[in-house]
Amino acid sequence: MEDSARTAQLAERLAAVQHRIEAAALAAGRAGELPTLIVVTKFHPAADIRRLAALGVGDVGENRDQEASSKAKELADLGINWHFVGQLQSKKAKSVAKYAHALHSVDRPGLVDGLQRAIAIEQDTTGRNALQCFIQVSLDDDAGAHRGGASPAEVPMLADQLAAAAGLELAGVMAVAPLGASPEAAFEKLAAISASLVAEHPAATAISAGMSQDLEEAIRFGATHLRIGSDILGSRPAVG
Ligand SMILES: *Cc1c(COP(=O)(O)O)cnc(C)c1O
Repeated sequence: MEDSARTAQLAERLAAVQHRIEAAALAAGRAGELPTLIVVTKFHPAADIRRLAALGVGDVGENRDQEASSKAKELADLGINWHFVGQLQSKKAKSVAKYAHALHSVDRPGLVDGLQRAIAIEQDTTGRNALQCFIQVSLDDDAGAHRGGASPAEVPMLADQLAAAAGLELAGVMAVAPLGASPEAAFEKLAAISASLVAEHPAATAISAGMSQDLEEAIRFGATHLRIGSDILGSRPAVG
C-alpha cells in the first residue's frame, strides 16, 4: 500500500476507535476521564508506529521483546511510551528495562526480582523513570483455557512485593477477557479485584482491560488503559 494511503487508513480507523471510546465513556458517565489508548502494534512495521505517532498516538504496546526492542531503538526520536503487554521471561527483564515505560504482565515473584535488578542498573546508567507495573490477573475459572496471569489470590502478595521494590511503581491490574465467556462478567470481576487492591494500595488505581472486541465492556467496568490492536492496524498473522 502507498505510504499516504496507509496513513489515511490508519487515521480513519484510529478516529473510529476514538469515537467508540468517547461514546462508551459517555454512556458509562465517564466522559470527563477518557481511558488511555495504547495502540498494540505487534507484527506491524515500525513505519506504522511512525505514522501513528504523527497522528497523535503517544502510547504503543508490543508483546515480544526482540521485536519491541528493535522498534524502540529505531523510533527513539518519537518520544512515545512503550508498553510491554506479553508474557515475559525473567531473562528478558534486562532488555525490557532499556525501553519499556510500563509492563502489563507482572505475574510472579521471580519476575519482580529480575525487574527490580534490571531497572536499578538502568537507573544508575541512564537515570530512567520508574517502571509502571500492572499485575496481570487470570480471570479463567478453568485453568485449561488460560490466557496468562496470576490467580486473584496471588494479587495481594505481588502488590506488596511491587510496592516495596525500588524503581518499580505499582500501577494496578491488567487482564484479558477469557475466550468464550462474557467479557462483562470478566471485567466486573477485575473491577472487584482492583477495588481490593486500591483498599491496600490507594495509588494503584489503574485497570488495563479492553481490546478491539470488548473495549466498550471494559470502559463500563472502569478500564483506565485500553490495549487496541487489530481494529486500528488491521489483521495480523495468527501465529507468533
Ligand atoms: C494483541 C494484544 C492486544 C490487542 O488485541 P486486539 O484484539 O488486536 O485489539 C491486547 N492485549 C494483549 C495482551 C495482546 O497481546
